[in-house]
Amino acid sequence: MIKSTSYDISDPSDFPQTGLQSLDLLSRCPICKEFFNTPMISECGHAYCSLCIRRSLATDQVCPICRVNLSESQLFKSTMIEDLVQSWTNMRQTLLRGALEDERINSSNKKSSNKESSNNESNYESKINLSSDIASIEKDYVRGENEEKWDVKANEKKIENEENDSRNDQSDNKLEKDDNQQEKEEIKVQEKEVKLMQTPESTPENS
Ligand SMILES: [Zn+2]
Ligand SMILES: [Zn+2]
Repeated sequence: MIKSTSYDISDPSDFPQTGLQSLDLLSRCPICKEFFNTPMISECGHAYCSLCIRRSLATDQVCPICRVNLSESQLFKSTMIEDLVQSWTNMRQTLLRGALEDERINSSNKKSSNKESSNNESNYESKINLSSDIASIEKDYVRGENEEKWDVKANEKKIENEENDSRNDQSDNKLEKDDNQQEKEEIKVQEKEVKLMQTPESTPENS
């Protein structure tokens, strides 16, 4: 698992890849380093949060980046930057998770073990499990059992459910059922197990 603190104070350096770092950097105000809040673009083409640039101009009537003379009347709201930043922040967490996982896999391939190796290895293992899942999906596909709904994501989920099911019930023929039915069955089995554990006949203090 990725530590939740990774997201608490975000920073372009969260990303191991320089391409994603620069995208993150471009979405941020050069004054406060946060994602643009009501971005304003100056006549010289530089962008700042509305509040940040107004505060800056209150003490120094120049563009903080290029130092040309600048007044509030030369600032314009940029809805385009605002929309870009919104799109980026919506995608950021997903991209970051993927980017960090890629990085972990790469580094655990290089370094055999280190202090953080438990995290690295578990992620690496889950990736290996995923590829064996895909291999078995492909097998199923060859047998023609999944031809009707050949969708990698749905099948990955299905395989996952099948693995869970097979732990609870080996004899059930899961391939005939859709994912929802499988999940319901799984919950029923778990409920049965809970009931079994709670049945009074097994508690010794009643005797
Ligand atoms: Zn700012
Ligand atoms: Zn400028």
